[in-house]
Amino acid sequence: MIVHGGAGGRALPADRPARRRGLLAAVARGAEILRGGGAALDAVIAAVTVLEDDPYFNAGYGSVLTTDGRVEMDAAVMCADNIKAPRKAAVRAGGVVLVTRVRNPIRLARAVMELTPHLLMAGAGAERIARRAGIPLCRPSELISQRARERWIQTRGAVGKGAAEAPADPAREHGTVGAVARDRFGNLAAATSTGGVPGKLPGRIGDSAIIGAGLYASARGAASATGSGEAIMRAGLCRAAVEAMARREPSRAAEFALQALEGAEAGVILIDAKGRIGFAHNAPAMEIATFTPSAGMRHLAPPSMLAAAE
Ligand code: ASP
Repeated sequence: MIVHGGAGGRALPADRPARRRGLLAAVARGAEILRGGGAALDAVIAAVTVLEDDPYFNAGYGSVLTTDGRVEMDAAVMCADNIKAPRKAAVRAGGVVLVTRVRNPIRLARAVMELTPHLLMAGAGAERIARRAGIPLCRPSELISQRARERWIQTRGAVGKGAAEAPADPAREHGTVGAVARDRFGNLAAATSTGGVPGKLPGRIGDSAIIGAGLYASARGAASATGSGEAIMRAGLCRAAVEAMARREPSRAAEFALQALEGAEAGVILIDAKGRIGFAHNAPAMEIATFTPSAGMRHLAPPSMLAAAE
């Protein structure tokens, strides 16, 4: 299993220990499920839920705010259940966009997958599914952390001058979360959850809940992405990365897929049908945590592809 905590600028030094702890806690939750014989789907949902609850990450509680000071979140899950026949898998997916009243959008994404005939639902309609799934609704204001509010106030000056899309200090703002896993039965799953990009306009939808862009799973493998959502959607990054594993080992496939982004910053984590993991990013920083039966749990801050090219 691999978990990521977003690609972007380097985290503030003061935040690094807490972010590291958060990622390790998330992968530990997933690993516990996988070790106990649980499903890849349960493992990715559990890991992402831990990070949605953690204010050091831009998902669930502590998400970045829109220009009008609200939290609007996107999340999705996709799984490819191994049904033995070679190259065949039963693929399922569910996602939510623009949700404002649930602490764990990834749980709601799963409910869309399991309780409705639909794949992607938005806003109030999606939140109605929460009641059916027993997922508690909260007030939108309960999702706003102190640090998210402070950063919104800091960046409002730039926005007020008409630069609505101007990114805030990237060193402070990344933190989309995602996870990919393979269980002992060969089932694969991917999950991604985000508050979006800082300075986003109300109603903006990023890549995180878009199948093939912010996540993907097939019989070949599973992927979760982070970074510039607009570029990731144009490139269909996660699908490209999974397909690239037909001829490359996972980290090489991740690097290859990122080349299609034409310089936009992003990162991707991958797992293949054999459980081999891989990752790459071209941003200044991306933090991940991994769990493999042989190496146990590890926290890594892999170097950027750009550094490798220099
Ligand atoms: N990809 C996310 C989005 O565009 C943001 C991120 O990963 O930092 O909404």
